[in-house]
Amino acid sequence: MNALLNSIIERQTSLTESLIELALINSGTLNKAGVDNIGAILAKAFQERLNCTHKQIQLPPYIMYGTNGNETKQPLGNLHLLSKRPEAPLQILLTGHLDTVFPPDSDFQQCDWLDNRTLGGPGVSDMKGGLLVMLEALSTFERSSLTKHLGWTVLLNPDEEIGSPGSASIIAQQAAHHDLGMIYEPALPNGQLAGERKGSGNFTVVVKGVAAHAGREHHLGRNAICALAEFITEVDKLNGQREGVTLNVGIVNGGVTTNQVPDQARCRFNIRTRISDDEQWCKLQLQRIQQQINLKKDISLSLHGDFGRPPKSLDEAHLSLFQLVSDCSKQLGTPLVWEATGGCCDGNNLTAAGLPNVDTLGVLGGKIHSSQEFIEIESLVHRAQLSTLILLQLAKQPDRWIRHRKQAPRATAQEQSDET
Ligand SMILES: [Zn+2]
Repeated sequence: MNALLNSIIERQTSLTESLIELALINSGTLNKAGVDNIGAILAKAFQERLNCTHKQIQLPPYIMYGTNGNETKQPLGNLHLLSKRPEAPLQILLTGHLDTVFPPDSDFQQCDWLDNRTLGGPGVSDMKGGLLVMLEALSTFERSSLTKHLGWTVLLNPDEEIGSPGSASIIAQQAAHHDLGMIYEPALPNGQLAGERKGSGNFTVVVKGVAAHAGREHHLGRNAICALAEFITEVDKLNGQREGVTLNVGIVNGGVTTNQVPDQARCRFNIRTRISDDEQWCKLQLQRIQQQINLKKDISLSLHGDFGRPPKSLDEAHLSLFQLVSDCSKQLGTPLVWEATGGCCDGNNLTAAGLPNVDTLGVLGGKIHSSQEFIEIESLVHRAQLSTLILLQLAKQPDRWIRHRKQAPRATAQEQSDET
């Protein structure tokens, strides 16, 4: 086992080169060409190194709402499924996302060494580094004598950074056919694993009023921006009313010019939840506020969106898996614990679908979702060793981890969503 794990050390240079190559290709979520380029490079590498099957799936477009309430459809990149030994007793689902939060017009497109162990660059931590860790760990595991006990599927999705609106239903379907999930989001900033995660939903509100000249006929106008402002004030008042629930209005726009009563306004907001009952509470509150605003003459307020990610809470199966990961990490000389976070990821989706999973198996780094994003470069090797060891331990005792696979997982494909 040690020889296998040690062999990864020699891969440091090659992993670093591959990471820089991937980071220099822009794959902002809505840059379909870039996301597909990353997907194609990785699918090819997985097939060449792992001799696995490959399936590419086109996703439905992502729907966005303009200030006038019109829908626009944005094409998403393709989703990739790579798998091996579907007949093996224990089935592991490994997931990672191809997209980043940096659009093609972002200023952050280059990699720079911050010192000889730290590389800055878009997506180096979140999660192009993690994708390489996954590939390296599987390649190493495949050279072991335990492979026949464990089959796997790698799911590479193109839309995680906007809440996986297009891929959520496929993630849920795949979860139903596997025993455990391993996700390659970066470790928390202190290097630890994420435990419980909050749930999340993204919503758009569109208000329509009546336009009029601001001077001549102000009394005939119905101001959409003012109605929206009332809505936003009421939404903000919900903060602090229920433990662990937060509502954040993040984007507002509307109106055309100052001498016209605006007849259009729009805002987008995010809600985080702690327990699944929070979703219903929030929906009732939003409905109440919506009805209140719609009582105004000639004002119509429509609400779009839904909760895309339920909260991730840890049951016995999750805790056993976390313990295994923690033990493996200790064996490699780095004790790990897990802690709750307000952020969410596809781990929420896997938990909602009934699949125990650990979702921060990617690299160490920090400042993700900012132009200061960086990776601790040696973590490519360390984390590949960790995942290899986890796979080896799972394959040693497959019976311990086989679960009664439940069917009919909750499908969470839905409208839009934003940052995760
Ligand atoms: Zn990520």
